[in-house]
Amino acid sequence: MTQLELAREGTISPQMEFVARHEGVEAELVRQGVAEGTIVIPASINHANLVPCGIGKGLKTKVNANIGTSSDVGSIDTEMEKLRVAIDCGADTVMDLSTGGDISAVRRAVIAACPLPVGTVPIYQAGIEAIDRHEAIVKMTVDELFTAIEEQARDGVDFITVHCGVTQSAIARLKRQGRVADIVSRGGAFLIGWILYNERENPLYEHYDRLLEIAREFDITLSLGDGMRPGSLADATDRAQVEELLVSGELVQRAQQAGVQVMVEGPGHLPLNQIETNVRLQKSICKGAPFYVLGPLVTDVGAGYDHITGAIGGAIAAAGGADFLCYVTPAEHLGLPDPEDVREGVIASRIAAHAGDIVKGVKGAEEWDMKMAVARKKLDWEEQAKLSLDPGMSRRVHKKHPTAGTACSMCGEYCAMKLVEEFLGISAPKC
Ligand code: SF4
Repeated sequence: MTQLELAREGTISPQMEFVARHEGVEAELVRQGVAEGTIVIPASINHANLVPCGIGKGLKTKVNANIGTSSDVGSIDTEMEKLRVAIDCGADTVMDLSTGGDISAVRRAVIAACPLPVGTVPIYQAGIEAIDRHEAIVKMTVDELFTAIEEQARDGVDFITVHCGVTQSAIARLKRQGRVADIVSRGGAFLIGWILYNERENPLYEHYDRLLEIAREFDITLSLGDGMRPGSLADATDRAQVEELLVSGELVQRAQQAGVQVMVEGPGHLPLNQIETNVRLQKSICKGAPFYVLGPLVTDVGAGYDHITGAIGGAIAAAGGADFLCYVTPAEHLGLPDPEDVREGVIASRIAAHAGDIVKGVKGAEEWDMKMAVARKKLDWEEQAKLSLDPGMSRRVHKKHPTAGTACSMCGEYCAMKLVEEFLGISAPKC
């Protein structure tokens, strides 16, 4: 039985129990969320060393780190290093988006080494193998696509992105709409090419029941992809994007009826004032299914600093109810991330997720900040480092310049907190 089926029959599984303990909430809250489809626990029956993680309503906002090779760069060794950094920095899940080298070998190595839920986008492998076999992605057969999905399922992936909502109707709408950046989703682009060349419906949509059978067998969580996501602010929240979301809403219902856990992916590039609207729209159309946003990036001009544009959007999305943030690294739009990009991307997204959690009222979020405020007031530098999202960075920056007293080198002997304490006799509250 899947986690969803267990939850529906009233059983609290060990995975639900673990998630509840980790989040500091009642196990019944987790069971109920899974049963209602507002929480997912991506946990393949074939991922041996998995530490379960819950994503959804009432839980901490989660952060995903994308790793993986490209056709230009990467090997098992480079991806293992990125995986190590992502785990060290506190990512909650990892997606292997490999499109170069031995894709299966990289994925298997990642799953074997990763205690976090692992996600993939099987259309990448299916499309690339079609090039090897038939010299064109558009010549991929439906069976080849499902063989790739099954292979990845057997390997133990916990969630897969499937762009089921990229339908012929959505493509027609995209053409009528006219966009500046057209399509920026790789999976979406592969499928659009296939649909137009073959003049057939998206196989992931047409054979959705086949997909559900595989997902149910291994308890893989479906992540309904955002193939029509805007790649520029000018294309945000347009008719093509909304059409795909409407289809996804129907597919959420069908997945849940089949006992399959499901979440929904979202934009992309969005101006600040459209983020909350997008979250509300998704929550309403998809009946509260967890929302997994890719950024969102709040401006198109942050190249080299897109971990910041993504974190600004991610914080607003999380505060508005998004459940899961896909990190953005400084390398976004420019190249394949290296381990340092992974580190910066994970930390930036974790800041965004936590900022959202304070507004959402997630258990423990406000208390964490309160502890930091007290440590600052006490000038307790080691405690501040321990409470930081990146303790190593906190220690390094504090020790960069020597100081004469107990304050930091910013104000030195004129430390405001120290002066006020001396003048007014105010001391930090106990926490
Ligand atoms: S020296 Fe200035 S910046 Fe440093 S702790 Fe004191 S008030 Fe804060």
